[in-house]
Amino acid sequence: MTAAHRWMMTAVGAPLTRAEFQPDPPGPGEVSVEVAGCGVCHTDLGFLYDGVRTKHELPLTLGHEISGRVVATGAGAEDWANTAVIVSAVIPCGECDLCRRGRGTICRAQKMPGNDIHGGFASHVVVPARGLCAVDEARLGERGVQLADLCVVADAVTTPYQAAVQAGVRPGSLAVVIGAGGIGGYAVQIANAMGAGVIAVDVDDAKLQAISEHGAGITFNAREVDGRELKKAIAAFAKEQALPATEWVIFECSGTAAGQQTAYGLLVPGATLSVVGFTMDKVEIRLSNLMAFHARALGNWGCPPALYPEALELVLDNKIQVLPFVEHHGLDDINEVFAAVHAHELKRRAILVPAH
Ligand SMILES: [Zn+2]
Ligand SMILES: [Zn+2]
Repeated sequence: MTAAHRWMMTAVGAPLTRAEFQPDPPGPGEVSVEVAGCGVCHTDLGFLYDGVRTKHELPLTLGHEISGRVVATGAGAEDWANTAVIVSAVIPCGECDLCRRGRGTICRAQKMPGNDIHGGFASHVVVPARGLCAVDEARLGERGVQLADLCVVADAVTTPYQAAVQAGVRPGSLAVVIGAGGIGGYAVQIANAMGAGVIAVDVDDAKLQAISEHGAGITFNAREVDGRELKKAIAAFAKEQALPATEWVIFECSGTAAGQQTAYGLLVPGATLSVVGFTMDKVEIRLSNLMAFHARALGNWGCPPALYPEALELVLDNKIQVLPFVEHHGLDDINEVFAAVHAHELKRRAILVPAH
């Protein structure tokens, strides 16, 4: 058995460093989770490479896409003992006025592992139990999915899930997903599972090829078709498929300025622009198009824990495939993996798996 360990960020751009530690006993309402897997997210790269500030001071263990097993419980959390779980990426306090009104994602007392508290690039992590989603392991076996694979539900699946719920995707909707990797690949599958006709746009033919087998009705490479041409091509596809010419739901998942420009250029009357990806870059847009089209733009910070069971159900029900979109690496290779993700060398989401 390996001693409890975690990889800490000490400074922007510096290699992460390994530290052994004695896990604290969980406090009231908390649990200690033995990490099965923790996904590497664009947000982690933003902290390490781009100088996005973590809310907790450094050194800090990053990682907010966690699955694992509860190995110790604090007072009031005893029912979670030995349960396989997904840890919500954003854990609301559950008690403030915002939480009581169902606005937990903007709770000012929320805890995000790897940002407000130590995260999942570790053998063990202590988190509030109210952020847990239980996993029925018997059903995992049926799907050939491991508990580690489900870490992506904590963010990459639930974030676009909440975006799709919030945007009101329904059977017969037309959904456009800009950026078909990481989060966007799941946005395509989720919108498809909700009955929408889905268009995927990316600059990478390999990603478009992969997602065309998982719910995208048509794909476009934005390097070949962009701006007005793209909008016309989508309108033509809509007509051919008897999908609506108005009220398109556009998910910006690329987290790039170019993707945001493309997404904004697709506004039609009554459109919803859902901003799921993040970039520090700025774009120049005519905001008044929202007015002229009576359109709306919605932000999206995480997903309320209450929606996790529905999102997990889509995975367990085979409506969302995770296996073609993930790859496992040893946690102790974290620096190499971060560098490879940063250099866009990986086509799938990296899941770091600690040795126990
Ligand atoms: Zn994330
Ligand atoms: Zn709250």
